[in-house]
Amino acid sequence: MLKIRAYHRPKHIDEAISLLSEPDAGRTVIAGGTDLLVNPRYMVGVREVVDLRDLGLAFISGLEDDPSTSMIVIGACATMRQVARSPLIQGLASGILARSAAVCASPNIRNMATLGGNTASALPSADTPPPLLALDALVVLAGPQGRRIVPLSEFFTGPARSIRQPGEIITEFQIPQPDAAMRGGFYKIGRVSDDIAMVNATVTLVVRDGIIVQARVMLGAVAPTPIRASAAEAALEGQQPSEAVFQQAASFAVEAARPISDHRASADYRRRMSGVAALRALRQAAGRAPQPEEWHHA
Ligand SMILES: Cc1cc2nc3c(=O)[nH]c(=O)nc-3n(C[C@H](O)[C@H](O)[C@H](O)COP(=O)(O)OP(=O)(O)OC[C@H]3O[C@@H](n4cnc5c(N)ncnc54)[C@H](O)[C@@H]3O)c2cc1C
Repeated sequence: MLKIRAYHRPKHIDEAISLLSEPDAGRTVIAGGTDLLVNPRYMVGVREVVDLRDLGLAFISGLEDDPSTSMIVIGACATMRQVARSPLIQGLASGILARSAAVCASPNIRNMATLGGNTASALPSADTPPPLLALDALVVLAGPQGRRIVPLSEFFTGPARSIRQPGEIITEFQIPQPDAAMRGGFYKIGRVSDDIAMVNATVTLVVRDGIIVQARVMLGAVAPTPIRASAAEAALEGQQPSEAVFQQAASFAVEAARPISDHRASADYRRRMSGVAALRALRQAAGRAPQPEEWHHA
């Protein structure tokens, strides 16, 4: 049974940080609560929660909102539903991030679950970090020592582990405006549609004059952290986007996977499905798959 002694709902980031900085208070952050309140591991030693939802972090902004920045900025408390339904995010690399949010769990969970929580939990199976990584996102952390901006590629250090220090909160994600030619694909394989992934694959491609000049292939749920399949990327770059090239790249994605077996799937199944998910994401990125529009249902 949950034994929460106090519930704090600060109005300012500084107030939240000072609450979290008090040693021995047994305080932790809560955003949507969809990981925190269902995972007993997170609640060990937790006596008080600090709710982030009044900090004004449930926003998504682009160049037209702030002409002084070249970044698309998503506040940590933006919900999966907000991310999935944002026309700005839907327009980013064929909407890979919007799609990943749209296939996260069920409508009820998507109304509560936040982008910041999905990253802060650092679960290898999380759906939004791989697209954020493919888009070269930066994560902004605020804590007792001040504010720091870190490439998301340096954030995850293991299952449920990250570089986030005690007392630090994720305030936002910054996404550099991608190459206008960038197209993407996201494909998740789960046991049922609202279960977490057995594997997810995210791809971005920039094709110029019929040649792939830049490729990014990310896999989720098949290693202790989201991983980049660099050999698959090398197999794509400099090539024409053909089915044979995609099949070859997908075979390298299979080799990159380092999955575990659990109640959802065996390691061997996950490894093989890494290739299937990567291939389908590649076909999406090349416009050779039915255009997915999950976000309409989110
Ligand atoms: C039935 C069910 C199905 C699910 N299906 C999926 C799925 O398909 N795909 C998927 O990716 N996830 C899934 N999840 C997991 C969960 O919904 C997501 O990880 C969600 O994004 C977590 O966000 P939250 O705001 O609810 O986090 P919370 O539960 O509030 O917090 C999670 C952790 O992150 C910390 N935290 C939260 N926000 C911040 C912040 N801004 N800064 C610092 N620390 C923070 C909290 O202290 C806690 O440790 C599912 C969960 C359930 C219960």
